[in-house]
Amino acid sequence: MSPEDVSNLIGGEARPAAAGEWLDKLRPADGTALCRFARSRSDDVESAVAVACEAQPEWSARTPVERGDIVREIALALRSRREQLAALVAEETGKPIELALGEADAAVEMGFFVAGEGRRSYGRTMPATMAHRTVFTIRRPVGVAGLIASFNTPLPNLAWKVFPSLLCGNAAVFKPSEHVPASAHEFARVCYEAGVPGGVLNVVHGLGAEAGAALVDHPDVDLVSFTGSASTGRWVAERAGRRLAKVCLELGGKNALVVCDDADLDEAVRWTVASAFSNAGQRCAAGSRVVVFDAIYREFRELLVRAVAQLTPEPVISLESRDRILDAVRRAVESGARLVSGSLHPTGPGFAVEPTVLEGVLAEADISCTELFGPVAALYRVADLAEAIALVNDSPYGLTAAIHTASMHRAMHFADQVQTGVVVVNGGTHGSEPHMGFGGVKSSGNGWKEAGAEALDVYSDVRYVNVVADPAKT
Ligand code: NAD
Repeated sequence: MSPEDVSNLIGGEARPAAAGEWLDKLRPADGTALCRFARSRSDDVESAVAVACEAQPEWSARTPVERGDIVREIALALRSRREQLAALVAEETGKPIELALGEADAAVEMGFFVAGEGRRSYGRTMPATMAHRTVFTIRRPVGVAGLIASFNTPLPNLAWKVFPSLLCGNAAVFKPSEHVPASAHEFARVCYEAGVPGGVLNVVHGLGAEAGAALVDHPDVDLVSFTGSASTGRWVAERAGRRLAKVCLELGGKNALVVCDDADLDEAVRWTVASAFSNAGQRCAAGSRVVVFDAIYREFRELLVRAVAQLTPEPVISLESRDRILDAVRRAVESGARLVSGSLHPTGPGFAVEPTVLEGVLAEADISCTELFGPVAALYRVADLAEAIALVNDSPYGLTAAIHTASMHRAMHFADQVQTGVVVVNGGTHGSEPHMGFGGVKSSGNGWKEAGAEALDVYSDVRYVNVVADPAKT
């Protein structure tokens, strides 16, 4: 599947941007052009939102079971096209095909989970103080959803937003990352083929500051669901907050993995490598701070260096991203950090960055506090668990954290004390599965959980219904 010009999809129809402008999308693996995509501006967003407003009432009038059945059809269609979609994602992002295939499967699984929610969508019933009164909850759609996502795992990013949005009865305008326009286009086409009416899912491509900002600012967008960096998320919350729109933010992380002196070091190294370097470190849950007990520091470091030497450098999403990451590593080294693995210079191919490990970094250094979204991890030494927990929490972010220990007592204390949305014991700083809520605290989010049944709370509003049924009137 070789995309050519990727237009917007408005009401199910392919439409170039009104101004006829295009942007180029390059392949990270070699820097060659993959396709052009529409450079949309506020008038394109206006058209898409208008179509969504018109389509939403009919869609919300269908039952959740019916909408869930359509989500299941999408999941089945995605599954039957997994190789084709994964190949496109691999080309767009430069990631290995096996990873892209795994992500296609994760998107399918999210579809099956959300489809099932159509038959659950459980509410609550409760007693009331007055006699003969029953109170129960129902879920109502929010209305028109503006969905804005990052590039890192294009298919799951779409699935996490589009499926619950559809299930809950919203119409949506999706603004994909400018780095992955083609996979978003194909995903939406699969949705249409599976029975989603055109106006219920619209795709508007373009730059964040243009198409994205126009969507955030649009008065008819009732919900903004945003996945991206903390700095953009803060801007989105401020702008959408002015008109009191509902805003769900899934933001970055500077996730720590702690290796205690009683850890299985081979396992700890294996999970450190997976956490820090899979998807070239472009994961919100990437483990970029590796906190190691003094007693086993040397041994762990040696094993890690050996494991990292076996890795093949992978491209990050863009030339700008590569240069930004290398720049941050160079600045850290200039400020006194030591380069344990990796290179300060581009070594290719394409936009590749070598898996990089630093040590001798201060907790308050830029590189300790700034999410790089690249294959860079820093090692820190601590004396004990109390110091480790203090270091984990000494971060503006709070998405995930992991601990490697043989002690249940240490693990439980860690889970209780760290300020993150997810904790993993003896594994990687990993994300979530479709049925598990996912979201962080501090600068990693604003309290909502995406995925899991909790996603329904984002994409629907809960209404409390009071019914008086008086037996005297029977
Ligand atoms: P980004 O903030 O640059 O962009 C994210 C999206 O927002 C893109 O679609 C972009 O076009 C759009 N955007 C940019 N400026 C905008 C504006 N002013 N108004 C509206 N939209 C705007 O982030 P990125 O580089 O694409 O993604 C990396 C970030 O995403 C990292 O911080 C990563 O941790 C985070 N992320 C978080 C999760 C999560 O679930 N918590 C998942 C994946 C990625």
